[in-house]
Amino acid sequence: MARYIGPVCRLCRREAKKLYLKGDRCYGPKCAIERRNVPPGQHGQTRTKLSTYGVQLREKQRAKRIYGVLERPFRRYFARADRYVGVTGTVLLQLLERRLDNMVYRIGFASSRRQARQFTRHNMILVNGQRVNIPSYQVRVGDKIALSPSAQQLRIIQENLQMSERRGRKAWIGYNAGEFTATFQQVPSREDLGDIDVREQLIVELYSK
Ligand code: SF4
Repeated sequence: MARYIGPVCRLCRREAKKLYLKGDRCYGPKCAIERRNVPPGQHGQTRTKLSTYGVQLREKQRAKRIYGVLERPFRRYFARADRYVGVTGTVLLQLLERRLDNMVYRIGFASSRRQARQFTRHNMILVNGQRVNIPSYQVRVGDKIALSPSAQQLRIIQENLQMSERRGRKAWIGYNAGEFTATFQQVPSREDLGDIDVREQLIVELYSK
């Protein structure tokens, strides 16, 4: 299961936007976008006007980076979204939202999708009572996601949960604090995904060429 293992703040600098890939640090003054918001590389500060293709490419790259998905699986998500009934761009985002690592992040067990992926790989997550260690697992409406009993005692989990309490949870997640479980109540609409700063229509145009 391939994944990006390079420096992540570089990805935000490339997109000139916060992608929130590092948890708590993203909200503090140490964030690279706060400190040095220029594209990475020797020619990073050279101004270039993007072509139409360039703009579409950047939108696609941003979506991939937010959800931590590489090119080939991302294309598969798009192919799936294209087959479904509905607005392809919205369906694409909904499929990405239903990834188990994303759900673990949204519930607040992890401070970032990257950390959520690690927790999932380390057998810390149960779906409907069964251990699932596949970050791309597609969660369905009604599924119950829980922390394994050993993970519930970890300090990092407690800190993450406190942090997510402060920020608030999404309406489509029903969280039960006493049991460390959450239920996926409904597939979010595009309006619910206001924090995903991507113009998905441009991704559809890019892949439809
Ligand atoms: Fe991006 Fe977070 Fe790094 Fe800031 S701290 S540049 S938001 S990953």
